Amino acid sequence: VRLGGRRWRTIISDVRLGGEHYRVIRPASPPGHAALYDADRYAHASVDGEAAADLAAAWWLAARSRHSLIHLPLRASPSRCGAEHGDRRLDLVLVQHSRQFPVHRWPAVRARLAATARPHTVTLPPVPFREPSRTEYDRVRHREFHDQLRWRIVADTLFVIGSRTGYELAAGAMRRLTEDYPAYRAAWPNSHCCAELDLGRTFRHDQRNGACRLHVQRCDEHS
Ligand SMILES: [Zn+2]
Ligand SMILES: [Zn+2]
Repeated sequence: VRLGGRRWRTIISDVRLGGEHYRVIRPASPPGHAALYDADRYAHASVDGEAAADLAAAWWLAARSRHSLIHLPLRASPSRCGAEHGDRRLDLVLVQHSRQFPVHRWPAVRARLAATARPHTVTLPPVPFREPSRTEYDRVRHREFHDQLRWRIVADTLFVIGSRTGYELAAGAMRRLTEDYPAYRAAWPNSHCCAELDLGRTFRHDQRNGACRLHVQRCDEHS
C-alpha cells in the first residue's frame, strides 16, 4: 500500500459543548482489522494492511490538525487478533496539545458526534511524511524535549497528545508499517513487524505522565 496520494474517507463532526466548539474527524467506515487492547501501560493493536494505512493517514492528519481531534473508534473493529494482550478494548484519539482538549469532556463530545456528521475526503500529498533529521531524533532523548508524545486513558479511549513535531517524529514508524511491510516480510518471512512508540516521560521527575508504550503489529495471519 502506497500512502502518497491515498484518499481517506472521513466524517467530520462539529460539536458545541459548554460554550466550546470541538471538531472531531473519524473514518467513514468502521475500522476493519484494528482492535486496540489495554495491557497496563502497554497498548497493543494488531492491524492488516488497510488498517495500517488508515492509521498512517490518521497520523498524518494529526500532525497537521492543530484544532481537530482524530478519532479512531477501534472498539468497533470485528477483529479479535491481538486479544492475548489484554481484555479491555480501547478507541484511539490523536490530538495536539495546543488544542488543550479537556479529556474529561470526551464522553459528552463522543455522544454528540452523530448529530452534526458530514462526509469529507482527505487526500494525502505525494510525499506525506518528511524525513526528520538525525538531530531531531537525537533531541527526543534530551531531558527538556517538549515534543514527547503523551497519553491519557479516558472512557475506554487512549488519547495520544503531542505537538506537530512529536507526531512527525513518530510517523516514520507508521509509514514503514504500511509501505515497507511487503518487502520486509519477503526478506524475513517469520519475523515480527511492528511500530513501537514511547508515550509519556520516562524521567523520574515527571510524575504527571508515566511511560506507556503503543505497540502496533502487522498481523501474521491477515496481511
Ligand atoms: Zn513489536
Ligand atoms: Zn489478524
